[in-house]
Amino acid sequence: MTATVRDNPDSRSALNAPAFAHVVVIGGGIAGLAAAHRLVQASPGVRITLIERDGRLGGKLLTERFDELVVEAGPDSFLSAKPRGIGLATELGLGDRLQHPTPRRHRAFVLRHGRLHPLPEGLSGLVPSRPWPVLTSGLLSPAGMLRFAGDLVLPARAGGDDESLASFVRRRLGGDAYDRLVEPLMAGIYAGDGDQLSLAATFPQLRAAELTHGSLIRGVLASKPVAAPGDVPAKPAFLAPAGGLAELVNALSTRLVTAGVDIRTNATASPIRHHDRGKRSLYVIELADGERLVADAIVLAAPAFAAGRLVTALDPVLASELRGIPHVSTAVVHLVFRRGQVTHPLDGHGYIIPRIEGRPALAATFVSEKWPGRAPADLVLLRVFLGRAGQQEILSGSDAELAGHARAEVAATLGVSGEPIFSTVHRWPWGMPQYVLGHLDRLARIEAAVNQHSGLALAGNAYRGVGIPDVIASGEAAASTISAYLREAFVLQSAS
Ligand SMILES: Cc1cc2nc3c(=O)[nH]c(=O)nc-3n(C[C@H](O)[C@H](O)[C@H](O)COP(=O)(O)OP(=O)(O)OC[C@H]3O[C@@H](n4cnc5c(N)ncnc54)[C@H](O)[C@@H]3O)c2cc1C
Repeated sequence: MTATVRDNPDSRSALNAPAFAHVVVIGGGIAGLAAAHRLVQASPGVRITLIERDGRLGGKLLTERFDELVVEAGPDSFLSAKPRGIGLATELGLGDRLQHPTPRRHRAFVLRHGRLHPLPEGLSGLVPSRPWPVLTSGLLSPAGMLRFAGDLVLPARAGGDDESLASFVRRRLGGDAYDRLVEPLMAGIYAGDGDQLSLAATFPQLRAAELTHGSLIRGVLASKPVAAPGDVPAKPAFLAPAGGLAELVNALSTRLVTAGVDIRTNATASPIRHHDRGKRSLYVIELADGERLVADAIVLAAPAFAAGRLVTALDPVLASELRGIPHVSTAVVHLVFRRGQVTHPLDGHGYIIPRIEGRPALAATFVSEKWPGRAPADLVLLRVFLGRAGQQEILSGSDAELAGHARAEVAATLGVSGEPIFSTVHRWPWGMPQYVLGHLDRLARIEAAVNQHSGLALAGNAYRGVGIPDVIASGEAAASTISAYLREAFVLQSAS
């Protein structure tokens, strides 16, 4: 049985309102696409328009092909442990397309005094679950090793104040473990400054481990199931469609077009105006070309600072809270070399670079070794990340200068000689939201403000998770909120 939503006639008026409920999704990144997809499923019969500023859908998900090279300009995979990445891919018929990084080279390195050391085994998220591999890794100084082991005996801190991620890890595991291990792992996720990031908003499970077990290491150890002989090996941590994350974007876009969603690319939404209709709201959105859209509900899936601009006229307090979420810019440089130009065996998936190494780059991925089918066998495809909180000035350089920084990085660390035979630079201005101290309080204020506007919902990476599965979940949750609102506000009529 399906249900169609019929307009409640007494609520329409002089405004050029649509004949049926109309939802506008602003932002065609993975959050907006997931929201539109869930709306199609949860509110059949509702008219949906998706507005995207760029000429393409996907936002940060951008896979480019150059002959046999597959280049991921933004993310390259998603965590398998969080359900909505695999869940959505499977719903879209991509379950069989998902692959994990090449297992035979399943390890990564960390730079220490300019040399690569294997990352210790048993890292669970940010924190080592097994002390021994850390203590024997050569990453920590003798004093750092002692201090690391101090976690097992130091008492838990009382009090419920938000604490920075750096302060917490230094307090539990010591400064050496933070600088050499946790900081570069954290930067690989947030490109952030651990002294600014809120522990409660980024890794609340670490504080929970301290409180429950009196020790971070004991807590992480206790949360990991112990493998018994004959157990099926744990699922790989990361997954991606074989042809890159564009497969996810293309499959979503095809579903939306088939379902009749009106997708507008190269369309920039301007500030939203509100027309109060008593119990119900109508929103008016003007596009840059002057077209006016009237919506019963809106999913705001643009980045928080853009969403802030969009609600300026609607709710200045909400606008200011959204604009208050800081973001940092990053850039991704891809370099292609012939195998003979690289002396390092590339026997891993890549490496991370601690801030204290003083390098302009924060990480590098050996793409051609990590993923099958991303480059011809005689070529090495490397991707280098530049720009993190506190090191933003490097991004003011030209593309040639950024490519030069990346080349200098791999020359110094991997022994790469000569010029790359191909390179690309992708910039992500204000691309990484920072969940700084007080983020959860800000979210509470944002949510309270949004709740004052019926038919308005937020989605995206600036709120409760930056990884793709969390962002998909945020889009789907926004769509569910809007569907529930429409069910209440409109007369539902059974179609069969
Ligand atoms: C370099 C990099 C690497 C990453 N690696 C990973 C990874 O490996 N795994 C992982 O899980 N996550 C990764 N992430 C994080 C993840 O990619 C993002 O958090 C996620 O893609 C954000 O999706 P979104 O839809 O919230 O935002 P976006 O992708 O930014 O989409 C928002 C869209 O809104 C549009 N827009 C803005 N203003 C307007 C307007 N006024 N009108 C209409 N449209 C508008 C924008 O053009 C954009 O397309 C990475 C991020 C970056 C930058």
